[in-house]
Amino acid sequence: MSEHMQELIDQAEKDLLHTYNRYQIILDKGEGVNLYDLDGKKYLDFVSGIAVFALGYANKEYNDALKNQIDKVIHTSNYYYNMPAIEASRKLKKVSGMDRVFFTNSGAEAIEGALKAARKYAYLKDGTTDHEIIAMEHSFHGRTFGALSVTGNPKYREPFEPMIGNIKFAKMNDFESVLDNVTDKTCAIILETVQGEGGIYPADEQFLKNIRKLCDEKDILLILDEIQCGMGRTGFMFAWQKYGVKPDIMTTAKALGCGVPVGAFMMTEKVGAHSLVAGDHGTTYGGNPLACAAINKVLDLFEADHIIENVNQVAPYLEKKLDELAERYDFITDRRGAGFMQGLVFDRPVGDVINKALEKGLILINAGANIIRFVPPLVISTENVDEMIGILDSCLKEI
Ligand SMILES: *Cc1c(COP(=O)(O)O)cnc(C)c1O
Repeated sequence: MSEHMQELIDQAEKDLLHTYNRYQIILDKGEGVNLYDLDGKKYLDFVSGIAVFALGYANKEYNDALKNQIDKVIHTSNYYYNMPAIEASRKLKKVSGMDRVFFTNSGAEAIEGALKAARKYAYLKDGTTDHEIIAMEHSFHGRTFGALSVTGNPKYREPFEPMIGNIKFAKMNDFESVLDNVTDKTCAIILETVQGEGGIYPADEQFLKNIRKLCDEKDILLILDEIQCGMGRTGFMFAWQKYGVKPDIMTTAKALGCGVPVGAFMMTEKVGAHSLVAGDHGTTYGGNPLACAAINKVLDLFEADHIIENVNQVAPYLEKKLDELAERYDFITDRRGAGFMQGLVFDRPVGDVINKALEKGLILINAGANIIRFVPPLVISTENVDEMIGILDSCLKEI
């Protein structure tokens, strides 16, 4: 590393609140599936800003759309209509099959809105305010208080107790444990269709179907968090579409704006007509013209560039190559995931492997201490997979 870059990193360590143990590089620019650090060193990126930059970096059409919108108007307010939001909500409804859209600035905020909508729905039904929500162990829904309250990692929650009340935790893919937590007060069940941060655990088809049936019988709302697994990552626009288990409320963010901070929670008409009304919820920035111009271009490019088709073409190859690695090395115990959301499970912490990979020009990230997570841009080719596997293999030989 250059002295210049080291000095800047040392400076940043004094200025930025230390809420991340950051990797020792300053990323400066990107092109396609590659990132470059301040010294000009090139990296192959299998993280995409944590499942965000689906289209790859420096996509000209995307960048031009943003530049055009910047020159027109960046922000107005949700007290007025704007064209990008009108178009973005129409397109999002089309790809999700949901009926109502609320734009947010982040994933956590989309979760907050989803939880509020669920509580309001139950409140309007029986007039009481002690409703319960069931979430899953090992889940991750964000860092704000509501989202943290349904996040199934006690370590993240404990220093900030008390959480919002009346949250229960069930075991993912264990329908009995969900049933054990259901009461007359249950208003919602929230889960990630594929758990991300918690270790890349896809929900079983039967588990999802059982939950859907339970929710229908008891008028409990099913909230699916598609913030990481949605937007084409698993080979479907949204992961639940593979099973046809439609949520009552769903959240999206991360790849939705491909880098412009934006998220959304969406609901069916049943919830839309019986939950949040004027004065119940709001945001200054959410769904502003710049953010929605990004969504519009992202959704257009998904179609024009056959992004999801590429996931379905290349993902089986990625899985095969990861499985081969898992077979060759004893310390790799499992490979699991869906599409371009994969995890390699080690019997030990993976920090050293990730740091070695970084030295050799490959950007990877963990999901929990023992799992390497692969969430590349959705535009990667089989050649990119070969290059990634080559570098990773050479790192694994050294441990
Ligand atoms: C990243 C993530 C969130 C939180 O999104 P932010 O934009 O970081 O607030 C919530 N749920 C899931 C599944 C995520 O992966």
